Amino acid sequence: MNTVTYTCEKCGMSVKSQCAKCDTPLKNKSITIDNGDQVQVSYCPDCDGMIKSPMCCGDDMSCEI
Ligand SMILES: [Zn+2]
Ligand SMILES: [Zn+2]
Repeated sequence: MNTVTYTCEKCGMSVKSQCAKCDTPLKNKSITIDNGDQVQVSYCPDCDGMIKSPMCCGDDMSCEI
């Protein structure tokens, strides 16, 4: 299973995301929110928990799988 690693294109910082509850590496997907915008989120396949992608330098961090 791949761990989602987010990388900031501006400063190069990277973050690994993992569910604190299950210790499961989070997966990445896009969802459509109420106003019709698409946002990248990380979700846990075990508990269905979901967080918005982390931000750095004022932008969403991009994700490499
Ligand atoms: Zn940054
Ligand atoms: Zn979880």
